[in-house]
Amino acid sequence: MKEGIHPKFGKAIVRCQCGETFETGSVEKELKVEICSKCHPFYTGKQKLVDTGGRVDRFKKRYGL
Ligand SMILES: [Zn+2]
Repeated sequence: MKEGIHPKFGKAIVRCQCGETFETGSVEKELKVEICSKCHPFYTGKQKLVDTGGRVDRFKKRYGL
């Protein structure tokens, strides 16, 4: 990647269908993905995407987020 060729390259919010959001670099401001590092079977070892979302909710409630 060479700066100058992509002048609009900056932070982008990536929204996964599992509810996870994270920042990445992109020329787009917002990206939507069907799978991310939080729910990808390669990382979770499961295919249960709903359970992944539930864990996130419980995590947020536990810490009052
Ligand atoms: Zn995800």
